[in-house]
Amino acid sequence: MTPYLSYDEPLFRPPSEAYSLIFQVTLGCSWNQCAFCEMYTSKKFKVKKEADIFKEIEAFSNFSSDIKKVFLADGNAFVLSFERLSRILDKLNESFPKLTRISAYALPKDILSKTEEELQILVKKGLKLLYVGIESGDNELLERINKGETFESTSEALIKARKAGLKLSVMILNGLGGKKYTEQHAINSAKVVNAIQPEYLSTLVLSFPYGVDHFKDRFDGDFEELSKVELILEMGNFISQLQLENTIFRSDHASNYLILKGILNRDKEELLGRISQVLQDPVHANLRPEWMRGL
Ligand code: SF4
Repeated sequence: MTPYLSYDEPLFRPPSEAYSLIFQVTLGCSWNQCAFCEMYTSKKFKVKKEADIFKEIEAFSNFSSDIKKVFLADGNAFVLSFERLSRILDKLNESFPKLTRISAYALPKDILSKTEEELQILVKKGLKLLYVGIESGDNELLERINKGETFESTSEALIKARKAGLKLSVMILNGLGGKKYTEQHAINSAKVVNAIQPEYLSTLVLSFPYGVDHFKDRFDGDFEELSKVELILEMGNFISQLQLENTIFRSDHASNYLILKGILNRDKEELLGRISQVLQDPVHANLRPEWMRGL
């Protein structure tokens, strides 16, 4: 019988971790203050007891050779100390000898709290990929959404992680600054991504699970939602300023009306061409049906 893991809901994982075994090593997000994010507002942040995590890992011992990928949850599992993460990685390697990848969500501050040598040791122990929600490279906007990070902290941390051998998957939030901040959001988000040169880049569209007024109450500034056309224009502005060597780009999350995929900068002109085609003739542009409503 397959062991049963009793998750503390809600549980989130990146789409690319669909086939990974997920262990919750922390509960919630240690920051939990971003104006747009409701993922963990129902949870108080907690570090899970090591003995409980080890018991859950041991429960899968009969499947040891089937387990190739493990994702450490919740929100920013990488907040754990180097020592604790090391022990968890040792336990995973000992229990699952065929493991090829361990990954986790991280905040830039979680990376900066570890030395480069510590990061290298974690990589040697199988931690291969970190997912980081950068959201924006614009310092004013980062402050208005209370991200607790800056262009500088983000670029410093992520460059340090890459140097240590970690792969990075970063996210930018399309529409995050509304009409007033769209230009600076696009320009500075491209700048921060260019500085980092991540392996993977994706964009999601800002959404309002509790309504736009709830977001406006938490946003420290004037916020006026972008129209669908303006969201696409912002994407075009952002992509046009990217200078990437070899980054896999995806804009195919459920929140994206316009699906874009490619390798940047190789496919940059093609992606920009698609955006301009959509802007010129949205009705015949073969978009997701939701995009067509309310155009
Ligand atoms: S750091 Fe991430 S998970 Fe935590 S509140 Fe911000 S967006 Fe949400």
